[in-house]
Amino acid sequence: AKELGGNQVQYFNSQIYAKIERRIKIEKHLRKALEKNEFILVYQPQVNLLVNQIVGFESLIRWESPELGRVSPLEFIPIAEETGLIYPIGKWVLREACSQNKSWQELGFPKVSMAVNLSSKQFYDQSLKEQINSILQETGLEPQYLELEITESMTMDVQVALTTLNSFRNMGLKIAMDDFGTGYSSLSYLKEFPIHHLKIDQSFVKDISVNPTNAAIVNTIIALARNLKLVVIAEGVENDDDLKILQEFNCDTVQGYLFSRPVEASEVPEIFDRFSCN
Ligand code: C2E
Ligand code: CA
Ligand code: CA
Ligand code: CA
Repeated sequence: AKELGGNQVQYFNSQIYAKIERRIKIEKHLRKALEKNEFILVYQPQVNLLVNQIVGFESLIRWESPELGRVSPLEFIPIAEETGLIYPIGKWVLREACSQNKSWQELGFPKVSMAVNLSSKQFYDQSLKEQINSILQETGLEPQYLELEITESMTMDVQVALTTLNSFRNMGLKIAMDDFGTGYSSLSYLKEFPIHHLKIDQSFVKDISVNPTNAAIVNTIIALARNLKLVVIAEGVENDDDLKILQEFNCDTVQGYLFSRPVEASEVPEIFDRFSCN
């Protein structure tokens, strides 16, 4: 490319260079982030519309790096996956989420499920099942209060996915299919997977009240879920107009800024109090 010369090539090179540099920096600091306690979990409530009660929380990781500032999971999770750092990070998330849920139960709050996002590497990790078993024992959380969120792309290898999901089911765990509609999923296998929740991706939920295409997609997914006897969770619900449409479509459960942003553990008791649970 050097003989092409010109500013264009230089500009292009410097852009690539900046990206590589950022990637290297993140990886470097990510390696120390766990031991330096730089991660926290935040929690977003999932609200059942029929009874206006919290039925669960989704845990979402946050990384506050002294060197890089706050880095989005959208940026560092893929790097954690590539480097294998996702194994210890994912294990920390599972333990933290389970222990937090157990401590809310011990404080007397209604028992709800805690959803944890799994990465593809974790899902295919042979030791995951054992790891979860020991975390549940350690924390004393009953398995039905832990929900694992997987995505369609993880189920591409249908046989392996089926075996893994069935063993989770046998352990008594709950499973949610996250970001539904954004990946390829073999709809024919969906009914064979032991899944409890279908989470409609927020890109479809967004502006559902003014976007007829999105409304049609969401309506169809809800009908599909009902046929498969799955409970639907609509993600990314931001305003009352969108909520109204979701209610018309008989959507079971919703999650989004309209109800609450993901909050730190210390703010969760207020959220429980805001909804008349049980
Ligand atoms: P996701 O699992 O699809 O999580 C939903 C994302 O939407 C979260 O972004 C959440 O904060 C955001 N969100 C919630 N309600 C609304 C809303 O009403 N409007 C809008 N615009 N956004 C909303 P976040 O926390 O930045 O996480 C991004 C992604 O990073 C997650 O997408 C998930 O794929 C991944 N992630 C987060 N935490 C973990 C984790 O502990 N482990 C793994 N493997 N991945 C994680
Ligand atoms: Ca999720
Ligand atoms: Ca999602
Ligand atoms: Ca997503």
